Amino acid sequence: MKILVLGVGNPILRDDGVGIHVVRELKKQLTGVDFREVSVSGLELVELFKGYEKVIIVDAIKTKEGKPGRIYKLTPEQIPTLHGVTPHDADFRTAIEFGEKFIGGMPKKIDIYGIEVEEVTEFGEDLTPDVRKAIPDIIKKIRKDIKMDLGGLSEEIQLEMDGKTLNYCFSCGMCTGGCPSARITDSKYNPRRILHRAVIEGVLDENIWLCTNCYTCQERCPTNTKVADLISLMRRIDVKKNGIPEFIKPLIENLEACGFTAKIGDLENKRRERMNLPKVEHTSGEIKKIIEKTGGGL
Ligand code: SF4
Ligand code: SF4
Repeated sequence: MKILVLGVGNPILRDDGVGIHVVRELKKQLTGVDFREVSVSGLELVELFKGYEKVIIVDAIKTKEGKPGRIYKLTPEQIPTLHGVTPHDADFRTAIEFGEKFIGGMPKKIDIYGIEVEEVTEFGEDLTPDVRKAIPDIIKKIRKDIKMDLGGLSEEIQLEMDGKTLNYCFSCGMCTGGCPSARITDSKYNPRRILHRAVIEGVLDENIWLCTNCYTCQERCPTNTKVADLISLMRRIDVKKNGIPEFIKPLIENLEACGFTAKIGDLENKRRERMNLPKVEHTSGEIKKIIEKTGGGL
């Protein structure tokens, strides 16, 4: 994948140049990616995107009550909703639409990393303390994104999990032997194979969604390898890369509507009554708020 990382800003206007500082540091740490430092906006900025499959923009952001140093990850669609946040976002969406129509070769994905800034009017090359402190975090986030885009699943997993225990696996097969999903799928679903494919080959197995999260594998593993946690992590990676799988969407809709992934009606409650269990009421309030806030991954 051809990736461009663009640091946008003016490096002599203190925090305004934070995007440039980030790009300079990333340049020392990463290979296989192009970097540019610019202080342009709109169409001039979009012209630089041509020929790249992904563009990551790092820029200063100033919101009304934002805390300096806060990191935002935004899509181009979200830019106009952050009112007057940065001098570099003028007509960004329109410029992209123009680029798609008249320039061509525009990236499939544009990520915008913004750092809430404090001082952008004074001359100077130094950043304010809170903004400077945010740089290692934003670098970590961007590195992770890029590694995933470049197919570095194995590195991503090692970063998130305790790499040492992953490497202790000696293929005893205890995890697969106790796995209910392996049993009912005639080992089409195989946690040991999933783990090896991810860690050794860097491949995301297509069967990860068959895991029931029962944790039997993790309890049986003699080397304390966190097999079930690894599969949950792989699902998160899959969602980040490919979006929520279609079959999960109705479950999220149920969750939003009634607080459970399955709707509970009179029939279910009658069964519960027979088992001396209390009636279950739909409780969507708090969950609804979370889904509204996060988009529920949809
Ligand atoms: S957590 Fe998943 S992989 Fe582990 S035993 Fe249960 S179903 Fe199998
Ligand atoms: S039970 Fe543990 S050591 Fe055995 S194959 Fe599974 S992950 Fe590896």
